[in-house]
Amino acid sequence: MNAPYPSLLAPLNLGHVTLKNRVLMGSMHVGLEEEGGKFEKLAAYFAARARGGVGLIVTGGVSPNIAGMLKPFAAMLATRRAAARHKHVTDAVHAEGGRIALQILHAGRYGYQPLCVAPSRIQSPISPFTPWSLSSRGVERTIDNFVRCARLAREAGYDGVEVMGSEGYLINQFIVKHTNQRSDAWGGEYSQRIRFPTEILRRMREEVGPDFILIYRLSMLDLVKDGSSWPEVLELAQAVQQAGASIINTGIGWHEARVPTIATMVPRAAFTWVTRRLKDSGVVTIPLVTSNRINSPEVAEQVLAEGHADMVSMARPLLADADFVNKAAAGRAAEINTCIACNQACLDHAFQNKRASCLVNPQACHETELVYRPATQQKRVAVVGGGMAGLSAACVAAERGHDVVLFEARDAIGGQFDMARVIPGKEEFDETLRYFTQRLATAGVALRLGQKISADELNDGAFTEVILATGVRPRALKLPGSDRANVLSYPQVLRDGAAVGQRVAIIGAGGIGFDMAEFLTERREKRAHPEIAEFMAEWGVNREGWGVDAEAPRGGLVPPTQPNPARTVFLLQRRKTRHGKDLGKTTGWIHRASLKKRGVEFLGGVEYQKVDDDGLHITVDGEPRVLAVDHVVVCAGQVSEDGLAEPLRALGLKVHIIGGAAEASELDAKRAIRQGAEVAAAL
Ligand code: NAP
Ligand code: SF4
Repeated sequence: MNAPYPSLLAPLNLGHVTLKNRVLMGSMHVGLEEEGGKFEKLAAYFAARARGGVGLIVTGGVSPNIAGMLKPFAAMLATRRAAARHKHVTDAVHAEGGRIALQILHAGRYGYQPLCVAPSRIQSPISPFTPWSLSSRGVERTIDNFVRCARLAREAGYDGVEVMGSEGYLINQFIVKHTNQRSDAWGGEYSQRIRFPTEILRRMREEVGPDFILIYRLSMLDLVKDGSSWPEVLELAQAVQQAGASIINTGIGWHEARVPTIATMVPRAAFTWVTRRLKDSGVVTIPLVTSNRINSPEVAEQVLAEGHADMVSMARPLLADADFVNKAAAGRAAEINTCIACNQACLDHAFQNKRASCLVNPQACHETELVYRPATQQKRVAVVGGGMAGLSAACVAAERGHDVVLFEARDAIGGQFDMARVIPGKEEFDETLRYFTQRLATAGVALRLGQKISADELNDGAFTEVILATGVRPRALKLPGSDRANVLSYPQVLRDGAAVGQRVAIIGAGGIGFDMAEFLTERREKRAHPEIAEFMAEWGVNREGWGVDAEAPRGGLVPPTQPNPARTVFLLQRRKTRHGKDLGKTTGWIHRASLKKRGVEFLGGVEYQKVDDDGLHITVDGEPRVLAVDHVVVCAGQVSEDGLAEPLRALGLKVHIIGGAAEASELDAKRAIRQGAEVAAAL
């Protein structure tokens, strides 16, 4: 039999060391870095990924000094005492046969703290803090701090470091003229501005010697107006190699860029062409790592086989499944728990100063706390409801050794997830359903589809415990005319495929209202994956010219194409707050921007009056208005579907209620999956 994924699983010889495959676990801040103690949780988190077969792990960003911290008291490595704590991490990774590099990240003007510094005193559009301008001595001291950090990383047992030179952090701020208006030796011409990273690398290499991995994360496509030009990217890559880097990793977009680069609506491997253009230029010979939205071994293999890069970086996919590489290598790719790029439990948590986890894998970053131990006594467990909560509970319970039957009234698993997967940009949800289908079978869960089980049927002595995961039903509106045929619920549109006219009012602007607006304005055929070229044109990324035309505008941006929405849509809410205020921190702006482009009219402060032949009658701030629409789609939240709870309790059965059945408000798949796992872990 041919070995699966030959390009992905091929070793990579770096001279003094050989990596066992081409998978680099990309840097991600998970919030464990700042927890007290000796990094035991962080060590367990990384050790699980090393055991899972990752070729080279890169840690979350660690600052080389106080000024470089992302926020007050963020992770920093500046003393030998701190280095000793890191030894717990490196020892744990090495014990599993893995390799690990520390990422050195100086936030510059992105530091969410009053001591932040930058090449020039220019505030970023995404931070309330105006940075202090570094003096020439301050620049020298900062370089020394980078070098000290690398030396300490080596002492702590790391196999290397990654110097964060992209995403708009300090190094990027030196490189680009817009943020570097210095007149000393660190500003002026491009060759002067790139001295900051090249001096860091050169002095670092001198300090740590030749047998230490130095990765440089290079911003190859800034996606900001005054960003680097392509010839400048090439010049920097050459200089970085010359200064002693062992590997160049790809950075795409500054944090302040207004182009989505990793969210779920970004097509898979959407940006690997950028790395390929550097590779094809032939200006560097060291290995190149490519990145962004690579979430399956097939995609990773294709990217490498086609010569886009020498390694792939995956960060979130390894949160979603620590055993990604081993499963791929063993021909068990169907068992991989795929990252759906939702950001809901990882990046959104990081932005809220909460510990990260993963929506589809609640054990991520909780390796020592959410443990699935073999059951001491086998129980007969009925799980009612095959949505996310029920699926998660059934799998964990069965994996622990319980005898589990899962009843689902519909003829498909997935609940709300199964419905949402038709939304453009939610194509990845199919992967989660594939994963759970596979996992149910592997765990030995008896699946009873199309069976709406009653309390009496559950009371025949077959079960000792019942997990009620019957989910939610849409909130119906009591409005004159809401019983008309042109007033639809969201499941009627998404699940039953109800025909919808050209002009539509959506009542409710929560996550589902936004999704509905996206769905109704999209022209692309349902279920088709977005094309990379189409995505780049829509968001104004110069894919044709970047790396091809030396005169291409800086930053890789061009005017975006104007979308041609399929319908005229009004998105309504009673609140006066900004639409989408409660959407994810890292994705809400994308949804808002996308709907604005499609001409969706956001109306807040709405009171609903009635629906009649003229359309939907509302008042907006007390002013009457009639929206002449063909259809009204109600996306006004949900109520719990928990009708079985009382009858089951009355029969004396032990009932655990989870997911939407327990609490409908603010329900999402993250809470449902985690609750299911927690209940089952405690059975
Ligand atoms: P939701 O976020 O609670 O939104 C419900 C909407 O309905 C709100 O806009 C609310 O706004 C309105 N509403 C509530 N009661 C109403 C009533 N009686 N009459 C008229 N309007 C009413 O619920 P959802 O959109 O159904 O989403 C359900 C869950 O799934 C949420 O937790 C959401 O976070 C999650 N979800 C997330 C995403 C995502 O992209 N992250 C996508 C889909 C769903 P007003 O009260 O201001 O009118
Ligand atoms: Fe991926 Fe979402 Fe999990 Fe983050 S929370 S790792 S984006 S699936």
